[in-house]
Amino acid sequence: MPPDLCTVVDPKTAPHMSAPRKIDFHCHSHFSDGSLAPEELVRLALQREITHLSITDHDTVAAYSRTLEVLAANEGLSLITGCELSCQWQRRNIHIVGLNMDLRHAGYRQAMQQQSQARLGRGDSICAALQGLGFDVNLAAVQDLAAPGMIGRPHFAQYLVETQQMPSLAAAFKHVLGSGKAGDIKANWPGLETAVGWITQAGGVAVVAHPLKYKMTLTKLRSLLADFVAAGGQAMEVVTGHQDSSPTRTLADLAQRFDLHASAGSDFHRPGQPWAELGHVQPLPDRCQPVWELWS
Ligand code: AMP
Ligand code: MN
Ligand code: MN
Ligand code: MN
Repeated sequence: MPPDLCTVVDPKTAPHMSAPRKIDFHCHSHFSDGSLAPEELVRLALQREITHLSITDHDTVAAYSRTLEVLAANEGLSLITGCELSCQWQRRNIHIVGLNMDLRHAGYRQAMQQQSQARLGRGDSICAALQGLGFDVNLAAVQDLAAPGMIGRPHFAQYLVETQQMPSLAAAFKHVLGSGKAGDIKANWPGLETAVGWITQAGGVAVVAHPLKYKMTLTKLRSLLADFVAAGGQAMEVVTGHQDSSPTRTLADLAQRFDLHASAGSDFHRPGQPWAELGHVQPLPDRCQPVWELWS
């Protein structure tokens, strides 16, 4: 973790949500599986007239630096600290976004180290699983595709495509890395309660990411939300990426039922993916309680 992190975005004093006109509270930089540097993300956000941005890399806050904070502040962009944590709930891989944490919090810093170690161990397991299926995998070459300590399934998928062992990223996920497949290793991740605890102890708001992406029945999803609330979770994404009005209604209903605040984000990873473009985020329905009310 960079030493200058200690000076980054103090959630207690930053006037984050003065005038939230256009928000994006879920996107990725090249510190996880996105393609842009954090500074490039900020510049793109400014071009798209985003007023409030959170960079939510998988299991790392390496995007946050003094340089980034100064750039955003000079341009009038409110930067909210963020991270998308991998965890497990009932043997499923669930993503919990943390927003507005104090990145100087010792427990949170330790959690980031633990997640990085978990990712490395999981990389070994994914490698072994793919080799067990007969793929030729050079772990060092996969690691080279990722930022240090950030190896993940997208990097294995890219490797399989580049070495012509899979025809496309989609095929790699569909056949070997996606949910329930041999390369979908979850054992290394902490439980849901632990991940939520890391966020809340650092003063942040825990948010269930893209609730419909887990392809659970509504009954299962309600059970997840009940456990999430019991663990101290306070919000869920009601708008995620390009979304039709029907799922937005379903998610707004769930948020109301569980008294959860609502967040919204694109889940942007790279330009050219119209279903997840930075800042292309529908407004939250009026009946939702916006997540920023929890910290403004
Ligand atoms: P990991 O953090 O290693 O578990 O990898 C999860 C990431 O893989 C997600 O955040 C997506 O960016 C990516 N991903 C998941 N499913 C797919 C898919 N079917 N096609 C392409 N990318 C995917
Ligand atoms: Mn991702
Ligand atoms: Mn996710
Ligand atoms: Mn994401």
